Amino acid sequence: MTGHRDLPEMAARLLLFAAVVAGCGRRPERTLDAIAAEQESLPVLYLTRGGDELVAAPALGDVVVEPKTRQLAFRAYVCTHPNCPDRDRRADGRPNLFIWEDPLWRIDDRGEPQYEVVPDRMAEIVRRGGTQEPTCPACRSRRDPSRETPAERGEYRERVSYYELPASAARRRQLDQEYQERRGAGGASGPAR
Ligand SMILES: [Zn+2]
Repeated sequence: MTGHRDLPEMAARLLLFAAVVAGCGRRPERTLDAIAAEQESLPVLYLTRGGDELVAAPALGDVVVEPKTRQLAFRAYVCTHPNCPDRDRRADGRPNLFIWEDPLWRIDDRGEPQYEVVPDRMAEIVRRGGTQEPTCPACRSRRDPSRETPAERGEYRERVSYYELPASAARRRQLDQEYQERRGAGGASGPAR
């Protein structure tokens, strides 16, 4: 019989378990790392070429297979260039979204995305109708790259970014605040001591 010797250890484990459960319920004792991890995993929007939408975790990468249509879906970008022809076209709160389609992706026989490996990747992407950088199609229709200054081209690049879903944006702001509060309270960035 070893029961007596093990009792204090068991009690300690139970206490630890209770503390963990209580911590989960209250939430404020998260580390800065945990807050940052949630920020990086907030849902993002993917679009197929046909405009079908898929909300998923960003960890899936820049391309996924949309389950209903079985089409490739790429991360949605948004253009905020002041001269964008599509700037105010959409009234549903989602401005001009587009995708940066990489034509080297295809869906294999098992329905998984596969990337074709070629010697000169960027040249091949452009040859197949893709672009070297995320490019708003509406702006592109008005642009003449041969006449653009580097500054003009740079502004087009800077005015496109990943689209952030409104719910994710709101949650990110909450997490920003939580992060600041935690840091102000001397929050550790590593695991709890
Ligand atoms: Zn644009």
